[in-house]
Amino acid sequence: MICPSCNKFAAYDTSAEPELDLSIEDGEVTGTARIVLTSECCGDELKESTFDVEIDLTREFEEAIRAKLGLADDAQVDLDAWEFGISQESAELTERMEAEKTRTKKDGTVVRKPIPFRYQRRYFGVHVDVTVTASKDGLEAEVEGSYEDEVQASGMDELT
Ligand SMILES: [Zn+2]
Repeated sequence: MICPSCNKFAAYDTSAEPELDLSIEDGEVTGTARIVLTSECCGDELKESTFDVEIDLTREFEEAIRAKLGLADDAQVDLDAWEFGISQESAELTERMEAEKTRTKKDGTVVRKPIPFRYQRRYFGVHVDVTVTASKDGLEAEVEGSYEDEVQASGMDELT
């Protein structure tokens, strides 16, 4: 893309940390993660994409709480009674090129064919890690979760 500040073709700077806006309710993390690509030359914002983050940790919490309380595997856990909080969150921008095509022949063998550079698709995405804590009556259970998604570069929203 052309950088608006210097009017030259700009390489993407992907070093900006994604912006996270997450919340937790009953063991389920929801919110958004926004990635921005800026121009390497002048730092102008060129493209962005916002991902809807959903990390369902209810099963993990039920297991963790059963273990904490020494309950049987099939015991009911009332997550409503616990107080949830995100104790740690981090995100990084991911990037990959689709450099080859694969095709499966009739006999089952997979043929890999390189894609010429100018036709390669470029993907940008986000990887989110969270640590969530549930507490009740002085007891605490901790669970980790992650989310990952990507979008084709050409499908991102342009900011210039
Ligand atoms: Zn520039």
